[in-house]
Amino acid sequence: MPKIKAEKKSRIHNDIAKQGIQFNKDFGQHILKNPLIITSMLDKAGLRPTDVALEIGPGTGNMTIKLLDRVKKVIACEIDTRLVAELQKRVQGTPYQAKLQILVGDVLKTELPFFDICVANIPYQISSPLVFKLLLHRPFFRCAVLMFQKEFAQRLVAKPGDKLYCRLSINTQLLARVDMLMKVGKNNFRPPPKVESSVVRIEPRNPPPPINFVEWDGLTRIAFVRKNKTLAAAFKHATTMAVMEKNYRVHCSLNNKEVPEDFDIKQKVQDILTKEEADQMRARTMDIDDFMKLLHAFNAEGIHFA
Ligand code: SAH
Repeated sequence: MPKIKAEKKSRIHNDIAKQGIQFNKDFGQHILKNPLIITSMLDKAGLRPTDVALEIGPGTGNMTIKLLDRVKKVIACEIDTRLVAELQKRVQGTPYQAKLQILVGDVLKTELPFFDICVANIPYQISSPLVFKLLLHRPFFRCAVLMFQKEFAQRLVAKPGDKLYCRLSINTQLLARVDMLMKVGKNNFRPPPKVESSVVRIEPRNPPPPINFVEWDGLTRIAFVRKNKTLAAAFKHATTMAVMEKNYRVHCSLNNKEVPEDFDIKQKVQDILTKEEADQMRARTMDIDDFMKLLHAFNAEGIHFA
C-alpha cells in the first residue's frame, strides 16, 4: 500500500479511537463537530422551554445535550445501539436524564410520538422518506430544522423553472413552507462526508391543502418523469394510459356508471388537457396551482390517479 494512504488511514482511525467508537458508513455516521453550527440550528428552530423536541440520529449526543438545555423534553431516535449506550452514559446521573427519551431503532419503521419541533443532523440516505414521514405525521409539528446533502436541500426549495425543480420540490412545497438556512462545509463533520451540506427549515402547512395526496402524487409522477416534455407528450405512454384506464373503470363501477363502448382513455385525457390549456405546458415550469387545477379537471371527468 502506498505510504501516504496508510498514514491518512491511520489518522482517521486515531480520530475515531479518541471517541472510542468506529463510525459506521452504512448508517451515515458523520458527527457534527462545530458547536456554532449546532447552536445556529437550534436558534433557527424557534425552540420554547415548553417544547417536546424530536431528534433523529442523535449519534454521540452533541446536539442532544444542547437541545436538552432548551426544551422540556427530547425524544431521540437512534438505530445504532452502541451510540444509544454512549448517549445514555452521557446523561446518566445528570438532570438531563429525566428529560431524554430514547427510541431505539430505524426511524422509518418507528411510530413517532407527539413532538413540537424536530432538529437533526440526519443520515442523508433516508432524506426523502424521512421528509414525507414527517410531513404526513399527525398531529402537526411546528417546524423542522434539518441538515441534508446540499443537492437534496436545493431540490427541496427549488421553484418552477429552476434547474433542480422536481417532484420532490412540488410535493414538499404542497405540504410545507421550506427555506434554505445555511450552507455547511464538509470539514464541520467527523469523519468529513464526501458531499457538501445545507440546513433547511420545513414548516408544515396547517391546515394542509384540501387535496388527496395519493392522487396528487400519481399526477405529478407522470408529469415529472418527463418534466421537459409537454404534458400532451407525457400522457401518451401506453403503460400510463393502461393504468389510468384501469382506474377509470374501477371508479365507474364504484359509482355505478357505465363505461361508454367506444371509450378511449388517450382521447379523453388529451381532450381534458386541451380544454384546460395544459397540453403544451411542461412540468418543469408548472406551479402548485397549475397542478391543482389540472387534478380537479381530471377528477371532475372521472379520471383518477389512484
Ligand atoms: N446527530 C449526530 C449524528 C449524525 S450521524 C451529530 O450531528 O453529531 C447520523 C446518525 O443517525 C447516526 O447516529 C446514525 O447511527 C443514525 N441513524 C442512521 N440511520 C438511522 C435510522 N434509519 N434511524 C435512526 N437513526 C439512524
